[in-house]
Amino acid sequence: MKPNKPVNVRRSDVMEKVSAVIGEHYLSPLVDGIRARGGRMVLDNMTILLAQEFGFCAGVRRAIDIAYAARRVFPDQRIYLIGEIIHNPEVNRQLDEMGLVRLPWQQMDESYEALTPDDVVIIPAFGVPVQMREFLEEKGVSIVDTTCGDVMKVWRRVKGYANSGITSVIHGKAKHEESRATASHARGDGGDGHYIVVFTSEDARVVCDYILGKGDREKFLAHFRGAMSEGFDPDLHLQRVGMANQTTMLKEETLEIQTMLRDAVIARDGNELNFHVFDTICGATQDRQNALFHLLEQPLDAVIVVGGYNSSNTTHLVEIAQKHQPNTWFVENAACIESLHEIRAFNTRTKKEELTVLPPEAADTSCRWTVGITAGASCPANLIEEVIRRFAALRGCAVEAE
Ligand code: SF4
Repeated sequence: MKPNKPVNVRRSDVMEKVSAVIGEHYLSPLVDGIRARGGRMVLDNMTILLAQEFGFCAGVRRAIDIAYAARRVFPDQRIYLIGEIIHNPEVNRQLDEMGLVRLPWQQMDESYEALTPDDVVIIPAFGVPVQMREFLEEKGVSIVDTTCGDVMKVWRRVKGYANSGITSVIHGKAKHEESRATASHARGDGGDGHYIVVFTSEDARVVCDYILGKGDREKFLAHFRGAMSEGFDPDLHLQRVGMANQTTMLKEETLEIQTMLRDAVIARDGNELNFHVFDTICGATQDRQNALFHLLEQPLDAVIVVGGYNSSNTTHLVEIAQKHQPNTWFVENAACIESLHEIRAFNTRTKKEELTVLPPEAADTSCRWTVGITAGASCPANLIEEVIRRFAALRGCAVEAE
């Protein structure tokens, strides 16, 4: 069967209609208005401060645009989506309602076998592994590709490492969609390149110890089971290493791991010729992290981070905020705010939403309460507006319509 080329659905006639629907589903004049006034909204007894950068990044917006456009271009065809287009439940719910059918992203099961050339398959913003892409091409389906350009930059980097005989050390979550796609590219054009995925500084320590000749081979292989390329041999494949990272990692953690690896290679070789590095955290992630640091310099009583609980960049915003402000709550939407006494917030350590008691100041409407708000790159502005309106309503404040 002849492989199909990706379909470009972003025609100007289509995009005009798509923009109007996306505006209705996800945008917020209220949030735009606060942003235009420097990110500050002062109400009777509360002040809302928004981070300078938050919410939808260009890559997420593009992916959503393309998915909506695909529905218009193929009104009668079956449209499949591999996993989630991005990590936000509200966006994925809207796509489900448009009749997009999910395919599992973890493995290609029988539903992939059943695809026919009449079907349309949307690749999410994280991309998909090389083998999955090749399978879809061979099936002859119409491929609508929303992979973010920043993710593809990482792919080019790790492929370059592999083609030069360098092992990719990928800072990311081994089971995240993006890292799995990146890892597949780290096999290089010949398919024989190698990679290892490190997530924590403890993982990096295990790699560094091995580089320094202090590691135990069996323990090493057990530690990284499922997070390294097939046939990975730490005695062979840690000689020349090149770092890359999932685009949404925390900058300071990536820098720490880079430094650890560089130091280990220098300690072994006496120079850093066998250490290569390329910072692949995307600009949108970096901007949101920087803006949050700036927000946290201001006097705040609490910080709310809005976003999907499985969103990597959002989770890192929560981690940053929690280090500076103990009253930090990670919520998916306004419904999580039960009252001024209790909030259902996601705990990034237990990976569960937990009912959390708010400090008494939250309910003391005789005092001004100042709340900083930010949101991950996959969070629509309308959800942020709902959170603002929910708090304002509970504190008895009127919010003018924009
Ligand atoms: S967070 Fe970064 S990598 Fe992900 S879609 Fe946005 S710009 Fe692309």
